[in-house]
Amino acid sequence: MEILEKYAKVSDKLSKLNKEIKFLEGDSVVQEYRVLLTLREVVEKELAALYEEKREHEFEQCNHIWVHSNEKGKQESSEFCRCIKCGLNRGLLQNELGYLNYLIKEEQEMYDFMLKHVVYFTGIELNIACDYDLAKALYQRIKEKNPDIDDATISQYLENALADMNKIKVSPDRERIRAKRLLLDENFNRWQSKKVK
Ligand SMILES: [Zn+2]
Repeated sequence: MEILEKYAKVSDKLSKLNKEIKFLEGDSVVQEYRVLLTLREVVEKELAALYEEKREHEFEQCNHIWVHSNEKGKQESSEFCRCIKCGLNRGLLQNELGYLNYLIKEEQEMYDFMLKHVVYFTGIELNIACDYDLAKALYQRIKEKNPDIDDATISQYLENALADMNKIKVSPDRERIRAKRLLLDENFNRWQSKKVK
């Protein structure tokens, strides 16, 4: 097909589409739809602003249970100490200043929160360092089974469970089953914990 002919054909296709769109834009349902899209954008922004406030409230109200992490990975060079209840990462305060340029949005919010408030060191500190996801999964599992358990008792349970995992070796198959039960990745392999000095 000649280029001129091709061009004319596609150009024709576009004007037909434009006509159809223009026709629909006159329709009241479509107009209403566009108003709703704009409104949704406004409400989404409102919700995002409230989310930050909600997180701050959670950090403030939480009676934290801090766990030191010995995990290698995304924060290898930094101290990692995080609450298994609200997720606040106190380790962010101990980072070298250069690292602060690379915080993701949520970390930045935590960092700002901790600078503004002096309440963030309250709560219980586990004397066992372990993978954060593991500690959180164990916490949730214990909490599920004992909804009324207090923080001191749950911390004790957690430390015992982690110590047992250190002591009792299980087969890779059993580890996979255990990971699944805790809703961790099937290939989770960071079961070991150690005492905090
Ligand atoms: Zn907390």
